Amino acid sequence: MTTAEAHHDAIIIGAGICGTYMLHKLRLLGMDATVLERGEGPGGTWYWNRYPGARFDSESYSYGFSFSDEILQEWDWSEHFAAQPETLRYVNFVVDKLGLRQHMQFDCNVASARFDDGGNRWHVSLTDGRTLTCTFLFTAIGMLSAATMPRIDGVESFQGQSFHTYYAPQQPVEWEGKRVAVIGTGATGVQVIGAIAPKVAELAVYQRRPNWCAPLNNGPISATEMADIKASYDDIFAKCRSTPNGFLHGPVRKDLAEVPQAERQAFWNALYASPGFGVWLGNYRDVLINPEANAEFSAFIADKIRSRVHDPEVAEKLIPKDHGFGTRRVPMETRYYEAYNLPHVQLVDVNDTPIERITPEGIETSDGVRAFDIIVYATGFDAITGAFDRIGFEGKDGATLREHWRDEPMTYLGVQVAGFPNLFTLAGPQAASVATNFPPAIETAVEWAADLVAYVKEHNIERVETTPAAEQEWFDEVKSVYDMSLLTQTRSWFTGYNSNVDDRNRLRHVIYLGGAPAYRERLAKVAQEGYPGFVFH
Ligand code: NAP
Repeated sequence: MTTAEAHHDAIIIGAGICGTYMLHKLRLLGMDATVLERGEGPGGTWYWNRYPGARFDSESYSYGFSFSDEILQEWDWSEHFAAQPETLRYVNFVVDKLGLRQHMQFDCNVASARFDDGGNRWHVSLTDGRTLTCTFLFTAIGMLSAATMPRIDGVESFQGQSFHTYYAPQQPVEWEGKRVAVIGTGATGVQVIGAIAPKVAELAVYQRRPNWCAPLNNGPISATEMADIKASYDDIFAKCRSTPNGFLHGPVRKDLAEVPQAERQAFWNALYASPGFGVWLGNYRDVLINPEANAEFSAFIADKIRSRVHDPEVAEKLIPKDHGFGTRRVPMETRYYEAYNLPHVQLVDVNDTPIERITPEGIETSDGVRAFDIIVYATGFDAITGAFDRIGFEGKDGATLREHWRDEPMTYLGVQVAGFPNLFTLAGPQAASVATNFPPAIETAVEWAADLVAYVKEHNIERVETTPAAEQEWFDEVKSVYDMSLLTQTRSWFTGYNSNVDDRNRLRHVIYLGGAPAYRERLAKVAQEGYPGFVFH
């Protein structure tokens, strides 16, 4: 019997930030755990998203793991917002530092996972025909890892180079002198466009709905700054723990109307010029709740866009009219708006000239065919639940997760699903994870799950499962937070929409939006009270 066929105490699917930390914690608990990863190395998001301009919008030093002082002190970040290659190096550094690589299996595509009720085991089948078994199964499969192509005829027919950003080639793409199309203007498209616009011969951006974007204001970190950062990690992580979204930016504890107009303008100008998410998450507390406050700030940002884009018609097309600032995920940009001032860059509004098909030469709209050398699909993800749908999870009595989640994802605390014993959906649907700075959210999820595993070991428990009643209670709580937010008035992956997937272009309550501190407290309370809502056998 090869290692790959062996039984393990635990299997973790995914070797990204989450899977890496879960593996480390399980090994500290003395568990025999293995990670199954479809990529050829660890990194998850950072392994796959190799498109130009890819970087996070979290300050680098708030993104790294906080649990190991040794790692914090040994790792130097080169920029305030590190780019993908550096973050991929960081994950590899952590994996090797903790001696985890030998417990990770790469090129392992999980096809299905079936729970054997009698044997109390998960049978995890890979696309290469192997099956592994385990007692506990952890998903660390990413919330934005099921890339979706647009439903446009002829995509396969294009004769040039084309790719979805998630699957950008590992080898550098030759952009110089090329005629390039980018479809999609979310956080990804905005990064790609800003990065390639100065390099290419022609760039056509196909936009369906504009987003409210704001400057990232990135910059290098000097050796002295890095030394200061290393000396301040306790404060940095304490600050992240104190803010609703786990970032270094928290809301001003005032309503907009409490502040005189001139002071507001000065504050907003300062926010606009400052690095990172402050403009979104460090604003007056009512900007994302009160429609009037939101409209006023949206008008401020609209004027910024007008001041940066020379052609007034193009500027108007780049200003969202269907939603207010911050009610969808705000893409942070680097010279994005300035790209449209370059003579070889054109914005194509697909509402005016819809894309009819992709042809072997390029893109055909109602205006005719335009030839390209490269088409980049920055068309997003079947977010939150898509990665789960791809794997056929089968729980007790043949129940499938796809069917269980057909209308809405149903979970207890975002960590377990009724009918799927011993399966833990780490930082998954209806956790606070993806609406917040992801690594701190992952640490919350992993540490809580590790505590539960320790409890299970201590009490000789073989099976942990939640109940439909607990699920319903959590669903009601998740929904009640959505109902208080302006987000439900917008269509985005935060609210469960995806126009490119059947039956996904509708509101679903996919994330806990109550903030990281409330979520952490809730998990801690459940643990302290002996895990109400869970049944142990
Ligand atoms: P996204 O926000 O869902 O954006 C997808 C884009 O493709 C949208 O502009 C969408 O238009 C467009 N689109 C989809 N189907 C289309 C079609 N059939 N025809 C025309 N346009 C179409 O996806 P994303 O940009 O990949 O970002 C997803 C999330 O990943 C982000 O919100 C963020 O959380 C994360 N991310 C983070 C970073 C970072 O940390 N800096 C960077 C990139 C991504 P509509 O808006 O009209 O649907």
